[in-house]
Amino acid sequence: MWAAPSLAYVAARPNRGPHRWGVGGPGGARYNPTVAPLAEDRKRALRAEMEALLGKGAVLSDPDELLVYESDGLTLFRALADFVAFPTSAEHVSALVKLANREGMPFVARGAGTGLSGGCLPAEGGLVISLMRMNRVLEVDYDNQVAIVEPGLVNLHLSWAVGPRGFYYAPDPSSQQACTIGGNIANNSGGPHTLKYGVTTNHVLGLEVVMPDGELLWLGGKTRDQQGYDLVGLFVGSEGTFGIATKIAVRILRKPQAVKTVLAVFDEVDQASEAVSAIIGSGLIPAAMEMIDHLTIQAVEDAFGCGYPRDAAAALLIELDGLAAGIDGQAERVLAACRACGAREVRAARDEAERALLWKGRKSAFGAYGRISPAYMVMDGVIPRTKLPYVLRRVNEIADAHGLRVGNVFHAGDGNLHPNILYDPRKPGEEERVVAAGAEILKVCAEVGGSISGEHGIGLEKMDYMPFIFSEADLACMQRVKDAFNPAGNCNPGKIFPTKKTCGEVGPAYRPHPIEEKGLAQRF
Ligand SMILES: Cc1cc2nc3c(=O)[nH]c(=O)nc-3n(C[C@H](O)[C@H](O)[C@H](O)COP(=O)(O)OP(=O)(O)OC[C@H]3O[C@@H](n4cnc5c(N)ncnc54)[C@H](O)[C@@H]3O)c2cc1C
Repeated sequence: MWAAPSLAYVAARPNRGPHRWGVGGPGGARYNPTVAPLAEDRKRALRAEMEALLGKGAVLSDPDELLVYESDGLTLFRALADFVAFPTSAEHVSALVKLANREGMPFVARGAGTGLSGGCLPAEGGLVISLMRMNRVLEVDYDNQVAIVEPGLVNLHLSWAVGPRGFYYAPDPSSQQACTIGGNIANNSGGPHTLKYGVTTNHVLGLEVVMPDGELLWLGGKTRDQQGYDLVGLFVGSEGTFGIATKIAVRILRKPQAVKTVLAVFDEVDQASEAVSAIIGSGLIPAAMEMIDHLTIQAVEDAFGCGYPRDAAAALLIELDGLAAGIDGQAERVLAACRACGAREVRAARDEAERALLWKGRKSAFGAYGRISPAYMVMDGVIPRTKLPYVLRRVNEIADAHGLRVGNVFHAGDGNLHPNILYDPRKPGEEERVVAAGAEILKVCAEVGGSISGEHGIGLEKMDYMPFIFSEADLACMQRVKDAFNPAGNCNPGKIFPTKKTCGEVGPAYRPHPIEEKGLAQRF
C-alpha cells in the first residue's frame, strides 16, 4: 500500500465547508486522501524547483489560481491541490512524477477537466499535472491511417487536423470541443458514434507512458496485434491510476462517402424506446442513435433553437453513414421502423446546415440544462437496449420519489443512459437526495443486467457502487493489476475502489454513509 511519505498522509487539513466535498458525495471528505499542509517556505522551495524545471509561469500554487482546478465537471466534489504544473514534454512529466515520489506527494493527471466522475480531482494537497500544454499532433501517417498525438490535444482538433485530407478521428464524446485525447484514453470515452465505431480503446494502438515511479516506456506501437500482454488495453480505461500518457498513437479513419441524419419525433417515451430496438432488430447498425426527452428538448430549444418540436415527449436522432449506394434505402427502413413504433413525425435533415443544427442540440444538451437548473448531476448507467422502456420509467419514478427533476439525453443505441438529475445546491438536503436517487438509478441498471458506467468512469463518484456489479474476488483481481502498475498507490489515489473500513490509503475514520444505511451500497 502507501509507502511512508515524507508528507504524512493524514487528515490534517480541515474540510472547508459542506460543498467542498459535497455533503452528499459518497463519503464526503472522509474519502479524500489528505496530505499534511506544507509549510510556506517548503511550498516556495518546491514551486521554485518545479519552475526551474518547467519555466516561469508553468506552476500554480496560489489558492485563488488553484480554485480553477478543484473540480471536474462533477462539481459535487472539490479538493484543492498544493500545486498545478504545466509540463510541455514527457521528460517534464517524468521529472515531476519523480519529484512527487521523492516528496511523498500524491499526483494526478488532468486534461481539460470535463470528466463527470471526479476522476482528475487531486488529493487535498498534492500535485495536479495538467497536460494542456502538450497539445500537438506530432505525426500523421495517412497511408497507414495512424496519428501520433500529445495527450492534451483536444479531441475535435485531431479531426480538424486530418480533415482536409479526408480523414477523421472517430471517438466523439459530446464534450469533444473541449476534452482531451489523454482524458479520453483514461476514461475509455465513447460518444454518439460509438454504436458503429466502438469506444476509445478500439482506436488506440500505442502509448508512451510515464509510469507512477517516473519511468518512461512505450506500450503497444503503431500497428495492431502487438505481441505480449495487451498493456494498451489495460491502460485505456484505467482512469489515470496506471500512470500518465504522454504520447498516443491512434487510428484515423476515412470520412464516410455519405451521411444521412434522421429526426424521429414521438408523443410517448416508450414509443421512442421501442423504435431503438426495432431499428437494430431490423439488421441495421446506424452510426449513431441518440434519444432526447421532453425536458431536455425544452432546455435545448431555449438555448439554441435547434428545431426539436417543443411538445414532443421524446426525439431520436439517428445517423447512417457509409457508401452512398444504398444509404437512401437504409434511411427509408429507419423511417418505416420509427413510424411503425408510433412516431408522429420523421424527417431526414435536408442539408449539412440542418444536420449540424440537430447535432448541436444533442451535443450541447448538458450545457443547456444550465438555463433551467443551477446544477445537475449526470448519471452514466448501461442497460440492455430492450430494457429501455422499463428503466426510463423507473428513472422517472425514482426522481419523483425524491422530489427531483430529471432530463434524459443519451446514447440509446448502446443502451448507455444519461439521466441528468437537476438540483439546487443552495437548498439544504438537495445534494443528498440527488446522490441517493443516483445510487438507486444505478442499482436498477445493475439489476437489469447492465452496468454502473458506460463511459464517464468510476472516479470518486461511483466507487462505492462497484459492488453492485463486481464481487470481492473481481475487485481483488483489479486491485492486484493496479498494484502492478502503481504499487505505491500515489498516482491518482482514492479512486475506483470502494473504500475499505481499514483502507491504507485514507486516514479518516469510517462512518456509514446514508446510502449504505439504506442498503444501496456496501463496503467490504
Ligand atoms: C458536456 C459534456 C459532455 C460529455 N459527453 C461525453 C460523451 O459523450 N462521452 C464520454 O465518454 N464522456 C463524455 N463526457 C465526459 C468527459 O468529457 C470525458 O470523460 C473525457 O474523456 C474527459 O476528458 P478530459 O480531458 O476533460 O479529462 P479530465 O476530466 O481532465 O480527466 C479525466 C480522467 O483522465 C485522467 N487523465 C487525463 N489526462 C491523462 C493522461 N494524459 N494520462 C493518464 N490519465 C489522464 C485524469 O486523471 C482523470 O482520471 C462529457 C462531459 C461533458 C462536460
